[in-house]
Amino acid sequence: MTKTAIKFTGVSRHFESVRAVDDVELEIEEGEFFSLLGPSGSGKTTCLRLIAGFDQPTSGTVEIFGVDATDTPPYRRPVNTVFQDYALFPHLNVRENVAYGPMVRGDAKPERRRAADEALALVALGGYGDRRPSELSGGQRQRVALARALVMQPKVLLLDEPLGALDRKLREQMQGELKTLQRRLGIAFVFVTHDQAEALSMSDRVAVFNQGRIQQVGTPEEIYDRPQMPFVADFVGSSNVLPPEMVERLTGRSAPASLRPESIRIGSGRVSGVVVRKSFLGSATRIGVACEGAMLDVLLPKGSEVPATGAKVSLAWEADALHVMSGGDHG
Ligand code: ATP
Repeated sequence: MTKTAIKFTGVSRHFESVRAVDDVELEIEEGEFFSLLGPSGSGKTTCLRLIAGFDQPTSGTVEIFGVDATDTPPYRRPVNTVFQDYALFPHLNVRENVAYGPMVRGDAKPERRRAADEALALVALGGYGDRRPSELSGGQRQRVALARALVMQPKVLLLDEPLGALDRKLREQMQGELKTLQRRLGIAFVFVTHDQAEALSMSDRVAVFNQGRIQQVGTPEEIYDRPQMPFVADFVGSSNVLPPEMVERLTGRSAPASLRPESIRIGSGRVSGVVVRKSFLGSATRIGVACEGAMLDVLLPKGSEVPATGAKVSLAWEADALHVMSGGDHG
């Protein structure tokens, strides 16, 4: 049976009138790759800081491996953080940067040197120990930051948008490396990102945040295919959210529903409208169709016929593509 690594019970963190984190319940299992996904300002970083112990909840409790962490200072928690800006010491070489934590802890020099070299090997930077951070590429600096967190052998690794500063190609490569590393180490990674594709591709489970609250927790497939809230449908994969009146006309149920742009095709369906915009995306073309009661995005794969702007089209989809939502928020 897996153990719970992190547990939030009714956790809030308010800054005067701002509810940065608002009554959050959350359980992250040992060995799990767990992402906190949401737009800027939705409370992800604050949650991470509450786990790390850099901040305290206004109310509620944070448990780490079953122990209430309220009175545990950051350095005594079995967690470590990788920050987006890496925060490497420029005047220390790579090995000294990685050995810094063990040094502060009081480990002897040969021991911390060995630990630093092991951690560097783990992130494929063996042999780079004598370089200065300024002599490394962005991706390599990112790996040093990782090694510096891993050298402390945390049971949970916290990552705050660690790939944000990298270009797309490097970012995708590092996503794969991080995932492989997480599997090899078998510890929980808690990964903060506002990039839904990143969260979906890397995570075992994802918590979607909006305005300090968790909207939905689930596997990437659950979040993508069965969003429970209009916000989740819209934020993850930019799904169409059909208004309750339209859904009632189509299904008899009065509730919002999500319908993925890639699930819609042009053909004889029950909804028709006028093409009002078109954008070429390379592997597909996205068109916007103004229908009665809603504007629907449709993704046409490369090679399919693309109607002209202004054309009247009829839209069709498989019955199970329309997902009627249970969640109450209509925003
Ligand atoms: P981003 O992706 O931009 O980092 P986030 O989802 O991580 O966003 P948080 O940094 O957790 O969001 O911030 C949540 C809210 O709390 C924001 O409105 C932010 O302005 C506010 N906030 C965070 N820290 C403080 C603070 N120390 N004092 C006052 N307000 C704060």
